[in-house]
Amino acid sequence: MALIVQKYGGTSVGSPERIKNVAKRVAKTRAQGHDVVVVVSAMSGETNRLVALAHEMQEIPDPRELDVVLATGEQVTIGLLAMALKDIGVDARSYTGWQVAVRTDNAHNKARIENIDDAKMRADLQDGRVVIVAGFQGVTADGNVSTLGRGGSDTSAVALAAALKADECQIYTDVDGVYSTDPRVVPEARRMDTITFDEMLELASLGSKVLQIRSVEFAGKYRVRLRVLSSLEENGEGTLITFEEDENMEKAAVSGIAFDKNQARVNVRGVPDKPGIAYQILGAVADANIEVDMIIQSAGSEGTTDFSFTVPRNDYTQTIRLLEGLRDSIGAIEISGDDSVCKVSIVGLGMRSHVGIAAQMFRALAADNINIQMISTSEIKVSVLIDEKYMELATRVLHKEFGLDKA
Ligand code: ADP
Ligand code: ASP
Ligand code: MG
Repeated sequence: MALIVQKYGGTSVGSPERIKNVAKRVAKTRAQGHDVVVVVSAMSGETNRLVALAHEMQEIPDPRELDVVLATGEQVTIGLLAMALKDIGVDARSYTGWQVAVRTDNAHNKARIENIDDAKMRADLQDGRVVIVAGFQGVTADGNVSTLGRGGSDTSAVALAAALKADECQIYTDVDGVYSTDPRVVPEARRMDTITFDEMLELASLGSKVLQIRSVEFAGKYRVRLRVLSSLEENGEGTLITFEEDENMEKAAVSGIAFDKNQARVNVRGVPDKPGIAYQILGAVADANIEVDMIIQSAGSEGTTDFSFTVPRNDYTQTIRLLEGLRDSIGAIEISGDDSVCKVSIVGLGMRSHVGIAAQMFRALAADNINIQMISTSEIKVSVLIDEKYMELATRVLHKEFGLDKA
């Protein structure tokens, strides 16, 4: 008998029929003799609806109150799933994040889980019940409701699996595993039986939304056995995230491609080329809690220098406003930018031992006339910033170039 944490995402609980389908799956796992803790998301579209409602009240919704509103989505599904389970004779009990309690820091809308009290869950499991926990939410030390950032139910599930020392954490979604790229964009994408933790971490951080980045980080830190599977198909092993690299396996240079539209480019032109100028500009952006990703500094004319960097698209307007306010003190000639850009990245452990991968990427993009605005690399990835209208084309071209299309 094992202890299994199963997480069902928005589409998987998107209608009463789908919730009943989840109940059947949970019942089946119970019937196999396993203890089950289930984490559910809000019904698909619900969190977006709640965000839109909040924006009707305030241009920038109050973060604490936004969490009060957002957390309601998951509260509905936990109750409904408990009913569906009881209806088919499976004893179950639902808990919100604060009832458990899932303790987080105070960063409303993007809170981090600090610790989880497993007493209630263990007592229920002991009594033979299925435990259902609302994903995406927790409670701060002061008793305020918090949420974990979009896609955060994945992180709730992995954190619960870590706290309970579960044998496996299964992420059920609307695709049957992790693919070489988003199968909705590239139909030729291939499902992988396994993917290494390092590659999954890169893909998630570069925009593959199949797993929230923090869930992968948690799995790595606590060595949670993590698997992605379909909630809509009867059988299938899905994709297992592995921690061991198979030394004997010949690795393809590129194993996956990610893309991210949540990007904007900011340009600061003609600032004096002197020590401290990068800090004056980027330090001010960081102080406003805005995350800077790619950065380029290049020589301008007559003792000046130019900066270009990327920020999340939601923070674009605020970043431009902030820099306009600093314009005189930093002595910039021009502040401009573009919020219709995207980042496309190739990822693969095999890049460590293959040379010329970046050049191959640039050549393939050039052949399709796709202009590269910025580049960043690490040991196992190369990212380019391009015009957002070429995002899907670039992904398809690179998928083919690196031999990822299924036969
Ligand atoms: P859920 O609501 O179950 O959490 P998400 O929409 O958050 O589901 O994540 C699943 C989606 O992730 C898939 O429908 C797919 O479009 C997208 N996706 C992006 N990259 C990948 C990838 N490499 N492999 C599989 N799915 C991916
Ligand atoms: N319901 C939340 C969202 O839509 C959390 C999740 O689905 O993981 O982002
Ligand atoms: Mg998700």
